[in-house]
Amino acid sequence: MKFYFLTLFPEIFETYFQTGMIGRGVKAGLIDYSVINIRDFSGNKHHKVDDTPYGGGAGMVMAAPPIVAALKSIPDFSNYPVIYLTPGGKPFKQKDGQSLSVYPGIIFICGHYEGIDQRVIDGYVDLEFSVGDYVLTGGELPALTMADAIARHIPGFLGNGDSLAEESFESHLLEYPHYTKPREFEGAEVPEVLLSGNHAEINKWRLNQAESRTRLIRPDLFEKYEKHNKTKKTCTKNKQSV
Ligand code: SAM
Repeated sequence: MKFYFLTLFPEIFETYFQTGMIGRGVKAGLIDYSVINIRDFSGNKHHKVDDTPYGGGAGMVMAAPPIVAALKSIPDFSNYPVIYLTPGGKPFKQKDGQSLSVYPGIIFICGHYEGIDQRVIDGYVDLEFSVGDYVLTGGELPALTMADAIARHIPGFLGNGDSLAEESFESHLLEYPHYTKPREFEGAEVPEVLLSGNHAEINKWRLNQAESRTRLIRPDLFEKYEKHNKTKKTCTKNKQSV
């Protein structure tokens, strides 16, 4: 999988792709990346890429020609989904990370200022995603957030398929709490059940913790979880009665 980033700030990406698990993924040949500086396609000697909005109003808008020229500099760009990061996009979810992980390449357009000319979106963008209900200064962090979440779904990336299956959101539940050594820290003990070696009891405790956390912190998710469980139970019942 190759990630392409169209940006005004190429220097942001280098460290991220050389560090930690993402860096390991690059070294292992599972992921690759290319950063394209939109300013290189400005077509003017001042490297200007933005202009005032038609109709007036505060702020500047990133002009269409440099963005489209940057996009067209990618060989076979029309074979890859083009994603524009915007607070006005669809909220990015774990399941989107999974479904996008099957593509050989993904192109991210990182906006700045008030955003980009709508004609880029209408003519070239396949998907618009938001990383949350807040406004950031640019699309670079949202693009990296998405790339990271997508990479984790690429077979072999995590090394241990199980860890993905148990993570938050995979089953509409937030994850249970984790503990490691030392057994006692500042007077706080590791819950007894985790030391018992009884895996059935441990799994029961973890599910319980995940359920109560989700109910408290994310009632919206918990509702989905309950609905999903109800459907599963009905399906099993129906299968048994056939
Ligand atoms: N005027 C825009 C609005 O009100 O929706 C906000 C523009 S923001 C200051 C500049 C750029 O940051 C956007 O074009 C987008 O690429 C990126 N951005 C900011 N917040 C974001 C978010 N929550 N999700 C995805 N991208 C975001």
